[in-house]
Amino acid sequence: MGALSKYVFVTGGVVSGLGKGVVTASLGCLLQARGVAVTLQKIDPYLNVDAGTMNPYEHGEVFVTRDGLETDLDVGHYERFLGQDLGAANYLTTGQVYWNVIGRERHGDYLGHTVQVIPHITDEIKRLIRGVLAATGAEVVVVEVGGTVGDIEGLPYLEAIRQLRDELPRQDVSVVHLSYVPVLSTTGELKTKPTQHSVKELRAVGIQPDFVVARCPVPLPEGLRAKIALFCDVAPDHVIEGRDLVSIYEVPLALREEGFDVKLLARLGLPVHSGDLAAWESFVNRLRCPSRAVRIGIVGKYVELRDAYLSIVEALHHAGAALETKVDIAWVPAARVEEEGEGALDGLAGILVPGGFGERGIEGKVLAAGYARRAGVPFFGICLGMQCAVIAFAREVLGWPRANSTEFDPGTPHPVIDLLPEQGKVTAKGGTMRLGEYPAVLAPGSLVHRLYGQDEIAERHRHRYEFNPKYLSAFAAVGLRPSALSPDGRLVEAMEAVDHPWYVGVQYHPEFRSRPLRPHPLFLGFVQACLASSSR
Ligand code: GLN
Repeated sequence: MGALSKYVFVTGGVVSGLGKGVVTASLGCLLQARGVAVTLQKIDPYLNVDAGTMNPYEHGEVFVTRDGLETDLDVGHYERFLGQDLGAANYLTTGQVYWNVIGRERHGDYLGHTVQVIPHITDEIKRLIRGVLAATGAEVVVVEVGGTVGDIEGLPYLEAIRQLRDELPRQDVSVVHLSYVPVLSTTGELKTKPTQHSVKELRAVGIQPDFVVARCPVPLPEGLRAKIALFCDVAPDHVIEGRDLVSIYEVPLALREEGFDVKLLARLGLPVHSGDLAAWESFVNRLRCPSRAVRIGIVGKYVELRDAYLSIVEALHHAGAALETKVDIAWVPAARVEEEGEGALDGLAGILVPGGFGERGIEGKVLAAGYARRAGVPFFGICLGMQCAVIAFAREVLGWPRANSTEFDPGTPHPVIDLLPEQGKVTAKGGTMRLGEYPAVLAPGSLVHRLYGQDEIAERHRHRYEFNPKYLSAFAAVGLRPSALSPDGRLVEAMEAVDHPWYVGVQYHPEFRSRPLRPHPLFLGFVQACLASSSR
């Protein structure tokens, strides 16, 4: 742990979906830019132990940390805005809190006492919040409390925060409340009443916020700032405007314009060092003013819900910004490819098939992978996307019409994707996958090797099935070659098609490591290939 331990809590009011994760991530970005050793933590007040079993329809993508924890997508924002890898200590759920407490109870650690929400659950919450500073060596943690103030699930967390405020010196704890100031469609008026009510709700559980960030669709008039300050009992200059912006990456810049970083540092009793956001600014400018555009299709199961592929979208935009290119994403439901055939893929400069689980839409994805190969369209298959490319290749090039993954056809005569023997039988859904970072060795002379510019890589995984190594030579003989293997040579981590402008499948999830200022080499290579293909 560093010399200091300071806690900033970000709560949310009125409605969900106000961008609390982005505001939290932006505070991290701003404090870090001013030389503060900062980390971020997400509290998910669900009973799920981790986000692994949560449906992307309800929660968006599952983000995987380097150490293999399945987390909420906000942790992805944190990593991208901080440019740092985070870990299991940066994410906690009610399921995990209760799991720990019940484990101790079974072990007899409570010595016959009644185990209660207060103090046992709240003590465990405080332990996990303090623990993140020890785990990361940071001096300040910005903790995002998921959900909305007033939710039953959130109460133990608010109580833990209330206790911490009492236990620690005033300068060590600050609370930021994110609220909503809507415009009435009938009169065009901005309304502060919902904000007043949600702050009242917070005060009812004993917490007075130090800052109110007013999310609003238009600039916040000074008069309303004063009104929020008066009714919510915060200083007028602690009411921060949180206007809607075109890109989430503009949020740190807008909050800095409000002086939020300086005011927060002052509240925490920390010195204000001069900060530099020049690289971030130039990234945002490149994002805002691209000189060309390219249209890339994402063929997936959940395309109605874009958050399900959040990190992939962000990774494409990071690469696009580096190439001064606007990446226009065409969302293609895999089911539409099944119905309409290849016509659904017309006019795309590149095709990306993302990860996924379950049979729905598989044939559409296999068709898309096959079409990209035949038509010479750049193709990037990620996890399930790579598996679909392998299936397409087996069917179309090796002439094995029933080739499949045993995930979708357990009786296939050509199980080109399979569970490996050492994985055993999958009986439970939670915590039974290959998760987190694993090393891989790149094949010299391969496209993937050239793009990474290094011999060994470490990438994050989240899957059960693997390329079946017994078919390696059959595929290599017809032009689908491994570009990366596990160090023991047993697992195929990436494959590429020779005789194709850009056809790469990876068993891992490179999107989790892409950063605004450090785009991932494979995404960079892919967008570049798409640009080349669209100008042909
Ligand atoms: N369903 C596949 C597997 O479990 C792919 C998983 C993924 O794309 N993340 O191996």
